[in-house]
Amino acid sequence: MRVERIVPKSIPPGERKDFSEVYSSFAFQEALFEARRCLYCYDAPCVKGCPTGVNIPEFISRIKSGNLIGAARLIYSANPLGSVCGRVCPTEVLCERSCTSKLLNIPIAIGHLQRYVCDFALENERVSFPYPQPQKGPIAVVGGGPAGLSCIHFLKLLGYRVTLFEREEEPGGLLLNGIPPYRLPEKTARKEISLILQGVEIGKGIETKEDALRVIKEFKAIFLSPGANKPVSLGVPGEDQEGVISAGDFLKEVSKEKGQFDFSGKVVAILGGGASAMDASRVALRLNASRVIVLYRRTREEMPAFPSEFQEALEEGVEFLWLVQPVEIKKRDGRLFLTLERMTLKEPDESGRRAPKGTGETFEMACDILIKAIAAFPDPRFLEIWPGLKLDPRGYPLENNRQSTNPKIFLGGDLIKGGTVVQAVADGKEGARRIDEWLKGGGAQ
Ligand SMILES: Cc1cc2nc3c(=O)[nH]c(=O)nc-3n(C[C@H](O)[C@H](O)[C@H](O)COP(=O)(O)OP(=O)(O)OC[C@H]3O[C@@H](n4cnc5c(N)ncnc54)[C@H](O)[C@@H]3O)c2cc1C
Ligand code: SF4
Repeated sequence: MRVERIVPKSIPPGERKDFSEVYSSFAFQEALFEARRCLYCYDAPCVKGCPTGVNIPEFISRIKSGNLIGAARLIYSANPLGSVCGRVCPTEVLCERSCTSKLLNIPIAIGHLQRYVCDFALENERVSFPYPQPQKGPIAVVGGGPAGLSCIHFLKLLGYRVTLFEREEEPGGLLLNGIPPYRLPEKTARKEISLILQGVEIGKGIETKEDALRVIKEFKAIFLSPGANKPVSLGVPGEDQEGVISAGDFLKEVSKEKGQFDFSGKVVAILGGGASAMDASRVALRLNASRVIVLYRRTREEMPAFPSEFQEALEEGVEFLWLVQPVEIKKRDGRLFLTLERMTLKEPDESGRRAPKGTGETFEMACDILIKAIAAFPDPRFLEIWPGLKLDPRGYPLENNRQSTNPKIFLGGDLIKGGTVVQAVADGKEGARRIDEWLKGGGAQ
C-alpha cells in the first residue's frame, strides 16, 4: 500500500508575490491515489473531528469509485460551504488530527480531497440545493457571514422564508473581507454564497434599538450572527497615531482595494499571534514590505495560530519576535518607534496556558507601520439594542445551545466564540434546527 500523503502543488514560498491562490487543486489521479489510502474505518474518528459531521469515509469512497459528483453532494448535504471549508478548515486540528490509523501514520489529506470534489461539482454546475417552496416563518438572520449563511441554508431546507439583514454591500462576512484570496479566492466564496442566497430577501444592517424592535415584531424568530469584529485597545500611549492600524480594517481595505496599497521599502510590525496576525503579515509581504516582523507576548508554544498558518508565514519570510509587548508608541521623522518590554511566562494556569509577565526590561524598535492583530470581541453597541440579552463578563451573550436569554433570539458564529468558518457553519445549522424545534413547541405565544 502507498503510504506517503499526496498534496496538490503549491506556489513555492519565494514566488508568492501576489494574491494568487497558493495551493492548486488535485489532479484526478492524485485525488484517486490519496483517496485509496483511506481505510474506511468502522468508527471513522475523522467524522467526530468535523463540527458539521461530513461523512468523510463515504465521500472518499465515492472518489475511489470515480463518483465525484456523488462525493460532492454528500459533503454539501452536511455543509453548504464545502469548497470554502475544503480550503480554509484547520484540518490538522479537526478531522485530520482524528485520522489516527497507525497503519497510515500520515493522515489522509481530507481538506484537499473535499476541495477537489466540491470545485469539480461547482465548475460543472452540478450543485443545487433542494429548497422547498417556503411555507413557514418568516425568520430574520442578522449578519451574512458563514454562520448566518448556514442558518439561512438549513432554514430554507426546512421550508422557512428567511430575510437576511446585512450591513455590508455584499454578504459573506470574513469570507470576503478577512481571509485573503491567496487562501480563499473570492470567486469560490461567491459561488457558494450565491447558491445559498437564491430567493432570499436582503435588508440593510440592524444598527438601532428601533431596528431591532421592528425585527422582533415582524419575525417569528431571529438568528444573530454579526461576528466578533470589535478590536480591543492596546491601552498604551501613542496607539492612535497615523500608521497604527487594526488588522481587521487593514485586511478589509486590502480585500476591496488591493491596488491601492504599496508597502515598498517599509518595515511592518504586526502585533498578535492568531489567524489575523498570520494573514496580515503575509498580506504585508505581498504588498512589497521590506521586512515584516510579528511581535508576540508569549512564545510559539502558546500562539493561537494554527500550525499550518505559522509554517506558511515563516516560509514566506515573516520574522517573529517572541516574548515582547509594546508599552509606548512614538513618532519621529515619519517613523514609528515602539518601546517593547521583554516578557516572561508564568507557570501554567488551570487551563494549562502560561500567562505573560513583564520583566521591566525595555528596548526600542523602529518600524513604519504597526498592525494590531490582537483579540476582537462582540460589539457591545450591537448587543445592547436587543432586549433581554444577558452577557458574560467578557461581553459574549449567554446562550443555551444557540438560544439566547431572550427566547426569540438565537445566536451563532464568532458572536459565541466560534473562531472558525466550519464552527460558524455548524452553529448556523444547529441554530436552524433549534429555531424549528422552538417554533414547533409553540414559539413566543
Ligand atoms: C484574517 C482572518 C483569517 C481567518 N482565517 C480562517 C481560516 O483560515 N479558517 C477558519 O476556519 N477560520 C478563519 N478565520 C475565522 C473565521 O473567518 C470566522 O470564525 C468566521 O468568519 C465567523 O463567521 P461569522 O458568520 O460568525 O462572522 P463574520 O464572518 O464576521 O460575519 C459577520 C457578518 O455580520 C455582518 N454584520 C455585523 N454587524 C451587523 C449588523 N449590525 N447588521 C447586519 N449585519 C451585520 C458583517 O458585515 C458580516 O457580514 C479567520 C478570521 C480572520 C479575521
Ligand atoms: S479516520 Fe482517516 S483512514 Fe479512517 S475513515 Fe477517516 S479519513 Fe479514512
